[in-house]
Amino acid sequence: MDFGLTPDQILFQNMAREFAAKEMAPHAASWDEHKIFPKTLLKKAAELGFLGLYISEDVGGMGMKRLDASLIFEELAAACPSTTAYITIHNMVTWMIDTFGSEELRQTYCPDMVAGLKFGSYCLTEPSAGSDAGSLRSTAEKTRDGWILNGSKAFISGAGESDVLVVMARTGSSGATSDISAFVVDARAEGISYGENERKLGWNSQPTRSVSFDNVLIAKSQLLGEEGMGFKIAMRGLDGGRINIGSCSVGAAQGALNHVHRYMHEREQFGRSLASFQAMQFKVADMLTKLVASRQMIRLAASKLDGKDKEASSYCAMAKLFATDNGFSICNEAVQIFGGYGYSREYPVERLMRDSRAHQILEGTNEIMRVIIARNALAERGAERIR
Ligand SMILES: Cc1cc2nc3c(=O)[nH]c(=O)nc-3n(C[C@H](O)[C@H](O)[C@H](O)COP(=O)(O)OP(=O)(O)OC[C@H]3O[C@@H](n4cnc5c(N)ncnc54)[C@H](O)[C@@H]3O)c2cc1C
Repeated sequence: MDFGLTPDQILFQNMAREFAAKEMAPHAASWDEHKIFPKTLLKKAAELGFLGLYISEDVGGMGMKRLDASLIFEELAAACPSTTAYITIHNMVTWMIDTFGSEELRQTYCPDMVAGLKFGSYCLTEPSAGSDAGSLRSTAEKTRDGWILNGSKAFISGAGESDVLVVMARTGSSGATSDISAFVVDARAEGISYGENERKLGWNSQPTRSVSFDNVLIAKSQLLGEEGMGFKIAMRGLDGGRINIGSCSVGAAQGALNHVHRYMHEREQFGRSLASFQAMQFKVADMLTKLVASRQMIRLAASKLDGKDKEASSYCAMAKLFATDNGFSICNEAVQIFGGYGYSREYPVERLMRDSRAHQILEGTNEIMRVIIARNALAERGAERIR
């Protein structure tokens, strides 16, 4: 067992760290404050391959493993978790088209998405179907030439700015998840309308909107995979999505600890630096312990997914639960260590805390992670298989 990174992984990690420090960190506060979706930055990220990390090379992607991608997301998120989280969603959407799309779909969309010429959104959640995504009500009614899409989606990241939507909709009437199909839809197609940008606690550098579909025509060729495979595709996407979002939490927590490290040596009270108080030292010890454990959980889950391990979904759920709970807790503790300045926008720790809070809710809430883990653990020989 080797816990070290390869020379190539270290190279990519350093490249991402430099990019984050130079291109993201100086602007992240302004993107957050003014709710700017930084398309110019995203295009620069595309030049380094960050918009197509685990996408096949024949459509312009980097063909990386999940573990490698996780290292890069972690570095970027230390500067801006919100923008990085959008980059992960874009990667997930592109991966779905790459993995489940026909050759025509792959060649039509993936090269442009990898190059940052088109941006993607993932449309699963509906106003009345969140955690229970399988109960979604949007419908795609079959016609001679394709489908007619009706319904509405809620909380869609990137919506309004993105160009390509992967939409899950019901193509049958049984109510089962096997009646759900996935489609690639042009975000500006006739009949699509968008709600206001949600006013959120964090994740302000990317828009979140509802999306409504009113008799939107979808060509036959826009189906992902087979009819009825949509829910499986959505869940496959989320396994990797959970590693990605957990990596964003690890990155945010590392960013927060880096700020804490500087501040504790600079700030003095009672004639001593904060670093000299044992109560403060113990906080750092706990934060770092949680951070290192979270990072290892994420990397273990990523390697299980890379290795197509049968229990990969459980590892992804455990890693997401652990890393996002700990990531938020570390960022929150960083705010405490900064005292009143931590609560002020003068320092980045409050933004890292606000951004990382979202990670406990999306890509499946952490309660749903526990549902998945417990279901698999209590299945026959579950606890023996997942170790
Ligand atoms: C900023 C942001 C961006 C998002 N981006 C996207 C996106 O791009 N695409 C997309 O499709 N969705 C997106 N989502 C939606 C997100 O995935 C859902 O918000 C999430 O799955 C929870 O659904 P809900 O909000 O309807 O909460 P609900 O499902 O109503 O849950 C409410 C509470 O009940 C708990 N709960 C529900 N069921 C159970 C259960 N069986 N056992 C125990 N507890 C339970 C939940 O954990 C939660 O605490 C985004 C959300 C946010 C906040």
